[in-house]
Amino acid sequence: MATFTEARLAPLNGEIGLRDNGMRQALIEALEADEVPRALYSVSAHIWCDAVLTDRALLLVKGAMWAKVTRVPFPLEVIREPKGSTQSARVMTPLGRKTLWGSRLDPDLGVILGHVAARTPQSSPPPVHVSDEDGPVDWLSALLDSGSLTATEVNARPQKTPRNATSGEGPTGPTTGVHGQGSLSPRPRRTWRDRAEARRRAGKKPRKPKLAKVRLEQVGSAPPTTIWDMASHCVKCGRRLTNPESQRHRVGTDCIKYYGSHARTISNPAFEKWTERKSRAAWLHAEQQRAFTVQHEASLEAYTKELEKWRLIRAGR
Ligand SMILES: [Zn+2]
Repeated sequence: MATFTEARLAPLNGEIGLRDNGMRQALIEALEADEVPRALYSVSAHIWCDAVLTDRALLLVKGAMWAKVTRVPFPLEVIREPKGSTQSARVMTPLGRKTLWGSRLDPDLGVILGHVAARTPQSSPPPVHVSDEDGPVDWLSALLDSGSLTATEVNARPQKTPRNATSGEGPTGPTTGVHGQGSLSPRPRRTWRDRAEARRRAGKKPRKPKLAKVRLEQVGSAPPTTIWDMASHCVKCGRRLTNPESQRHRVGTDCIKYYGSHARTISNPAFEKWTERKSRAAWLHAEQQRAFTVQHEASLEAYTKELEKWRLIRAGR
């Protein structure tokens, strides 16, 4: 059984927790002059986080060496009261929803539940918190308080953040209903359990479709544009030619002495065929690529919608 040697923590004798000196010192420094601790609770499954109920607030002591104390003033917002065999209560805190349990001085949580706010969260408008986390909300609520801006104006304005802009038409209507005007009430910090659940529901992030590239058909290198006109017979005497050199000069070995070479070039039919094949390949490539581009644009549009949906689910909306 732990005993607290510190005089300020004497009322907590009998409780288990605050295992680190840093946590105890931070708590003592956070206590007001005449504040008296009443009970000590374990917080969720955290080892280095304890909750201390005093006569005026709930103090969350978090961390070991550099412990920080978060003060949750009364009335507390209880999300779930102990029910059945569950000897724990779920409380909304600035650090998120926390499950409090395991107090020896307050085993059935009767003391802490004495400081619970009246539970009518749905009907009453959400209180405008001034938290240091949400800058834009502060700015909005300050304007609203001063009366220079009405709620309708706020909604008509282009929202600063995209999540606010989409919250109105998002797929989850009930959450926006509970939170009232999404731009007016700061979103409570989500717990790791909520985030894990949202992650599981959202599934894999949609993959960005890639534009398929059509392979250009290879037609080979260009053949020569002209070739030698080969002759089978001498153009002067009509004698049959067998020597390839004579065939190229188109005259026999005798006639070449008198008439000289009659070699000439003609356009290469292979080159014309090659040009045809090449232009056909280019045309086919352009056609297929155009079809692929149209397909890609459609899938890109679907992808954008899917990604937006995925982001919303992932963000818990
Ligand atoms: Zn000849």
